[in-house]
Amino acid sequence: MNILVINCGSSSLKYQLINSDTEAVLAKGLCERIGIEGSQITYQPAGGEKEVTVSPMPTHTQAIQMVLDALTNKKSGVIASLAEVGAVGHRVVHGGEKFTSSTVITDEAMKAIEECNDLAPLHNPANLIGIRVCSELMPNVPQVGVFDTAFHQTMPAKAYLYGLPIEYYKNYKVRRYGFHGTSHSFVSKRAVEFLGLDKDNSKVIVCHLGNGSSISAVQNGKCVDTTMGLTPLEGVVMGTRSGSIDPAIVEYIAKKENLDLAGVMNVLNKKSGLQGMSGVSSDMRDLRAAAAEGNEDAKNAIEVLCYGIAKYVGGYVAAMNGVDAIVFTAGIGENVGMIREKVCSYLGFLGVTIDAKANEAMGEEVVISGADSKVKVAVIPTNEELAIARETKRLVEA
Ligand code: ADP
Repeated sequence: MNILVINCGSSSLKYQLINSDTEAVLAKGLCERIGIEGSQITYQPAGGEKEVTVSPMPTHTQAIQMVLDALTNKKSGVIASLAEVGAVGHRVVHGGEKFTSSTVITDEAMKAIEECNDLAPLHNPANLIGIRVCSELMPNVPQVGVFDTAFHQTMPAKAYLYGLPIEYYKNYKVRRYGFHGTSHSFVSKRAVEFLGLDKDNSKVIVCHLGNGSSISAVQNGKCVDTTMGLTPLEGVVMGTRSGSIDPAIVEYIAKKENLDLAGVMNVLNKKSGLQGMSGVSSDMRDLRAAAAEGNEDAKNAIEVLCYGIAKYVGGYVAAMNGVDAIVFTAGIGENVGMIREKVCSYLGFLGVTIDAKANEAMGEEVVISGADSKVKVAVIPTNEELAIARETKRLVEA
């Protein structure tokens, strides 16, 4: 079956058409600047040239119609007609406490997703638009929602409750939800297979380090803790997000900089993290180049990141009373041996050693711990689109 995977944002939309039997990507691309002047679609068929078409897309309806036209285009399309799309899998950011796993989209499911909009006001409404438009354009094709939060719903109360008045949890559902769940689920499962662990007796820590970063503790295949919280702002230092800070800084900076709440939140989400600390860039490649040239702020940003990751890893070893494997994934985790090495340099007390040669790996599945290491350390590339396609197939065929 061919599955169209859609990740619909407020002004952009990423898509992949995946053959769920062979797991081959038939075509992929993205629509940018939806609803803004200068919108364009990028389309790349497997083994073919990338095509960029500039065309007005006032709403998501035009954008998704253009995706469907590109996929079925006589010249460079990869399917003859939409009848060859068996299902659509949608990334949905927030499933609150309602969704503990993926779901087939029904009117009821749409309503339940809408009820989570308050928790992710920038993302969920856009995800819902994607679902609505696909349902309209392909009324007979099943749609599935795959949630970023679902994998983390197994966390116990001691991991998800904050030290706040309990009414905030009871009335407003203020709690840790965690994000990147599709990636943490995919990578932790693959780690168990790849490293030959016993799924029902395994303790795995997944470090998803990309533009956004989060770490999770996965015991016997179930998430027991994760670093992101009510929103993706909590946890380790990220590209532009601060990660965890003293909450009192919000008021202090508001007064010093004469900012309102929205202004401070904008700083914490968009102007902090590696970008803000270094004053150079949110991108690890630029940061490394600046550090190599002697930029002290860039060097410190890298040190703060690695130290912070190591402290969470140490905490999760305590949470699970042990660890079998530590796994790195996403843009930084998969490609930057220096970061992996620095993080692991704090973990000697666990008997972690690194094989320097193996750690040169970029973007491939590989064990990087030394032969004598008491804990396995590995790189496992994440693939959220494939994970969504697998979930979609599982639900549609059930
Ligand atoms: P997103 O959260 O947007 O999916 P990614 O997982 O693509 O992000 O990660 C982006 C980060 O990965 C950036 O900091 C980027 O610099 C870093 N990255 C990706 N490839 C490399 C590479 N080859 N070398 C160094 N850093 C890389």
